[in-house]
Amino acid sequence: MFSQLTDSLENTLKNLRGQGKLTEENVAESLREVRRAFLAADVNFNVTRDFVKSVKEKSMGAEVLNSVTPGQQIVKIIHDELVAVMGGETKEINLSAPSPVGIMMVGLQGSGKTTFAGKIALWMRSKKKRKPLLVAADVYRPAAIKQLQVLGKSIGVPVYDEGQGNPVEIIKHGYQYAKDNGFDLVIYDTAGRLQIDEELMQELEKARDAVHPDEILFVADAMIGQEAVNVAETFWNRLNFTGVCLSKMDGDTRGGAALSIKKMTGVPICFIGVGEKLNEIDLFHPDRMASRILG
Ligand code: GDP
Repeated sequence: MFSQLTDSLENTLKNLRGQGKLTEENVAESLREVRRAFLAADVNFNVTRDFVKSVKEKSMGAEVLNSVTPGQQIVKIIHDELVAVMGGETKEINLSAPSPVGIMMVGLQGSGKTTFAGKIALWMRSKKKRKPLLVAADVYRPAAIKQLQVLGKSIGVPVYDEGQGNPVEIIKHGYQYAKDNGFDLVIYDTAGRLQIDEELMQELEKARDAVHPDEILFVADAMIGQEAVNVAETFWNRLNFTGVCLSKMDGDTRGGAALSIKKMTGVPICFIGVGEKLNEIDLFHPDRMASRILG
């Protein structure tokens, strides 16, 4: 992940290490490299431009501290800016709402929604001692209901389903079932399509308005790069999701989505998926990710 970014930045920054002064020239040279590496890593063009501008402003104004070399100083400025762009702090799911807390998963088909629903159920049970219920409302893809049932069974989390019924009704009934049966967390797996379509968006809006979930988590496939930003913006405009889950961060992703989505929507990334298995989930730590990007 981010290997291109890391390698090319490392090379440039290595050349800076050991130099005595932070000159306009070497700032410009590193920023050229940042720009090149970002675009190669599929970071959105506008995000890249703003990032470079911000680092430039901070570098030009910065006093070079005696304790560090100019190279270390610019690495630190880039690091801090990366952390800021990715949201600063780790976003925690809001669990303080009245029980049962509702989490609605949304995103395109194949993004990793169903897998994330299972991962979050398992994570919440083991790390937060919650008693989760999964609700199968992805009615257009028959295999999705079965997939959720298999998933639920493998982790011992019950799944509420009504087969191919009306998804808004299923979600409402699922909420009620959770409430009546002592579950303190209810996770709705909703339908996705291969592309955004109006009918799907309206249905998701109706589902949201029916149960007012405490969190709406947009799931994006980290592999889809630039396109992730357009999809995220559309979902955000319609649903005002409250958090982002990035799946497939274990794959050969160029990683730009992590930087772009937060910057473009203002919504923080909360979880990353790092494999197909249900325990392959991590909280997203902006500072760790920044360190990883810079090698
Ligand atoms: P949905 O259509 O959005 O519900 O997507 P699924 O949850 O069915 O995921 C689509 C495919 O991606 C499945 O084959 C999953 O096993 C796979 N997948 C999901 N998350 C991850 C991940 O973090 N890493 C990897 N390598 N594969 C994943």
